[in-house]
Amino acid sequence: MADPALTNVLNSFLFGIVKAFFELWWLWLLILALYLVMEFLNSILYKVDKYKKHSLINKLYFKRGGSKKCPQCGGNLVKRTGKYGDFYGCQNYPKCRFTEKIG
Ligand SMILES: [Zn+2]
Repeated sequence: MADPALTNVLNSFLFGIVKAFFELWWLWLLILALYLVMEFLNSILYKVDKYKKHSLINKLYFKRGGSKKCPQCGGNLVKRTGKYGDFYGCQNYPKCRFTEKIG
């Protein structure tokens, strides 16, 4: 090496980087933890969002189809799932047993 002073500077510079890396291990851990938390929250929010959208679609559907009333008692018809698939059932079930096929 030509200049021992320059070598010294280089050495301490490289050593400083390595040292900083190891001294900041908690920072990497923190970033990793934050990332995992964000992923976790994201998955929860996604589920909630999906649920909200689902119920919103349901609400809009029934708002639009405001005429979807039970012809027997005047109650609202709600979507139900039975043995043979989805159908509309009267809100007042089991008092009223009116059902209507979907489609
Ligand atoms: Zn009814």
